[in-house]
This record gives sequence, structure tokens and C-alpha cells, in this order.
Amino acid sequence: MVGDTFTDELLEKYIRAGKIAARVREEIRKIVREGMRLIEICEIVEDEIRRLGGKPAFPCNVSINEVAAHYTSPPGDERVVPEGALVKIDIGVHIDGYIADTATTVCFNPNYEDMVHAAEKALENAISLMRPGMPIPRISSEIQATIERFGFKPISNLTGHEVDRYLIHSGKTIPNVAHLSTDKVRFGRVYAIEPFVTLKDAAGRVKDGMEKHIFRLVRYKSLKDADLQKTLKFIEENFKTLPFAERWLEKYCTQGVSYRRSLSSLLSLKCIMAYPVFIEASLKPVVQAEHTVYVDKDGPIVLT
Ligand code: MN
Ligand code: MN
Repeated sequence: MVGDTFTDELLEKYIRAGKIAARVREEIRKIVREGMRLIEICEIVEDEIRRLGGKPAFPCNVSINEVAAHYTSPPGDERVVPEGALVKIDIGVHIDGYIADTATTVCFNPNYEDMVHAAEKALENAISLMRPGMPIPRISSEIQATIERFGFKPISNLTGHEVDRYLIHSGKTIPNVAHLSTDKVRFGRVYAIEPFVTLKDAAGRVKDGMEKHIFRLVRYKSLKDADLQKTLKFIEENFKTLPFAERWLEKYCTQGVSYRRSLSSLLSLKCIMAYPVFIEASLKPVVQAEHTVYVDKDGPIVLT
């Protein structure tokens, strides 16, 4: 999205997506309980997005404790919210490809409540700086400083990001730690800001886990196998370049096509890619807070 072609109509779509995302986030916060099945959380969030007239921009992420991001329930998932868990719920909504991205942490352990406040305060402080021309390193330093004031540590290799049509991560990133760069916040752009916070003695970075439950189209091509072609076409038509869950194929990819076999074949043909879950490298707990903002002439409009 370039600033000078940003019309009121597009902004209106972002605002609608943002309102749905914010509403679903607040609704699910009230519903999540210890012992609740993770798949139930995912499905409530995704169904509610659709009911309110949006589409999920990516599978609802429910990431527990040291899992920082990118966990969504596979079909038939039996996992539940453990006792005393930190539950990060990351929600994406799009209207015609215009995306709002927001996340919250539900905390069932009183010892970690400060960590949640640190993430929320870092997010709030960062948003207040989202004016045209503001150097991005200034925002990152503010996020890091706020988190450290609370006595915690930011995750250094997860970042906020620009958002574009049908692209969740596009253009410039907004790191959660001080860094050198000449990038500036630009008028008319949409950014997601997402501080991730962990304990002071943690590694402060994430590593790839073994599990992969979120996928995305990489290239559409002609395939010899008719079933595979059908699945790929379904993916292209329904999700375009946005991430999707295996659950969504199970639900909608009927007509006798084996979605499981298709997925692994499409992965080896490099038509689709899989996102590994991100785990804090020292297995310490992680919290997250996220909003999407539109940068107007005078400052930020929080969409979510
Ligand atoms: Mn997110
Ligand atoms: Mn994001």
C-alpha cells in the first residue's frame, strides 16, 4: 500500500477488519479457561470472525507458555490450556485482503502478570510514537526500554511489521530491540506492533520448534495429479497468499480429496510452505501484545 493511493474506501476496510479483530479478542479473553481445549479456542475465534462479516487472515494462534507464536490446533487436537498457563491468542481478520492483526495474553499465573503489563505498556508507548517520519529504531528502543524498566527482556528475533493487501508481513519490520537503521514510519501505511516479553534470565530469542501447523501458498502451478491440483486450486482461491490451517482444508476440502496426503505432496513440490512454531530458546515463558495501526498525518489510528 503506497501512501498516496490510500483511499477512504481502503481505510474503511481496514477499520472494519480492525473492529472485528478487537471485538473477537475481547470476547475470547472472557471465554478462555484452564483445561479448555485449544482447538475450541481456535474455532470460536475463527467462526466469530466469519459471523461478524470478516475472514480470518491467518489461523487463530494459541501459543502456550514458552511457545511464542505460530501454534494453531491441527485437526482433532486434544491439547488443553494447562493450569497456570500464559495463553497468547493472536487474531487476524481481513476484509478483501485488508488485514488487522492483534494479539493478547491471558494469564493464569499471578507471578507473570507484571510481564503482561510490560508487554502492554511497551505496545502503548510504541504506538504513541507512530507518527510520519519517526525513525523506526526510536520505536524499537522505546519498546526495549519499557520492557527492561519492568525487569524483563524483549524477544530480539520477533518483530512488528508492515501490513499490505493479502500480505501479513510486508515491507519494513519494527524490531523489539534497539538497532541501527534509517527506516522511518511513513504516512498512509499500516503497521502491526507486537512486543514479545520474556524473563530477564531467558535467552530472549526464539528458535524453530518441530511442529508445523500453519501453511501458505508459495507458487501456483500445473500439476499432473488431479487431486493435488484441486487442493492447490482450493488453497489459491480461498486463502491466496494468506496463511491457512490444515483444519480449514479438512472442513472445506471435501469431494473425496485426501487433504493430508495433498498437504505433504504440495509441501514437497514447494507449492506451499509450512511455518514452524516459535519456541523461546531457553524454554522460558513468553507474553505478547499486539495492535495494528494506520499512520495518519497527525499520528496513529489504532485499528484494533
Ligand atoms: Mn499477530
Ligand atoms: Mn503481527
